Amino acid sequence: MTRVMRDPDEIGAYVDMLRRNRISCGLVPTMGALHAGHAALIRRSVAACDRTVVSIYVNPLQFGAGEDFERYPRALDDDVALCGRENADIVFAPAVRDMQPPGHTTTVSVAGVTEDFEGARRPGHFDGVATVVARLLNVVRPDRAYFGQKDYQQTVVIRRMVRDLGVPVEIVVVPIVRDADGLALSSRNRYLSAEDREEALRLPRALVAAERRILEGETAGDAVRAFLAAALESPRADVEAEYADLVDPDTLVSIRTLAGHAVLLAALRVAWTRLLDNRIVAPPGTPAWER
Ligand code: AMP
Repeated sequence: MTRVMRDPDEIGAYVDMLRRNRISCGLVPTMGALHAGHAALIRRSVAACDRTVVSIYVNPLQFGAGEDFERYPRALDDDVALCGRENADIVFAPAVRDMQPPGHTTTVSVAGVTEDFEGARRPGHFDGVATVVARLLNVVRPDRAYFGQKDYQQTVVIRRMVRDLGVPVEIVVVPIVRDADGLALSSRNRYLSAEDREEALRLPRALVAAERRILEGETAGDAVRAFLAAALESPRADVEAEYADLVDPDTLVSIRTLAGHAVLLAALRVAWTRLLDNRIVAPPGTPAWER
């Protein structure tokens, strides 16, 4: 049975009990509206940790003005049911006032890797993410925290924050879960009409095609970027690639000549919905990636 806790003091007491008894704990931070992508994170945690806490918190700090904070899907009962099926122990669903105490003035801000891509298009977004994840890590004090490769830049930001602040947690990144047609699962996919979804499929298809070019021997970053941009082009005026790049996996700097692992990183706007996707790539013969 999954227990729902809303009060940080209650989860604090629970975590104290785990610590005293040397019971390991995994944390899966989410914004709810859970799907099979989130379930994959929960499963990884349940497999590796004695107890799994899934946090569900639609974090106002990471939404910009005019974004979808109000209409972001909320479905706590369904989410708790999914967590139960996946054998998570606790759903931690705090209220905003408990995550942002009145009069709070502290922001966790990671420089550099937040500047481009999502950071450039969503000012303040990663400050909001880093501040809330730091608070969640302090409240839950997990041994491991699980994040999806789907939000690749976010994983880079969190790893950097944890390293820079010396947070005693292991960050685990879980591969992207996709629908049968290749579209990466996202709580926002429900905003797409059938026609929009066809357009959205340009994103995974373009990434696969660009990877194929790399596997055929293309190493020039500019050539890969141009190919990706062309593959994302749509006749529809309201479909636009916001960025499409080949970047270093740790620094997110654009790659000039591909010599090892890299990430194809892209965002496509379809009408009012922004879709993110990425693929980790490497030239043929590159040894497996160790992180
Ligand atoms: P969200 O609820 O959208 O904030 O996502 C919570 C966590 O689930 C983040 O670490 C996401 O990267 C991860 N996630 C979301 N979609 C997927 C997916 N399709 N595959 C794997 N992880 C995902």
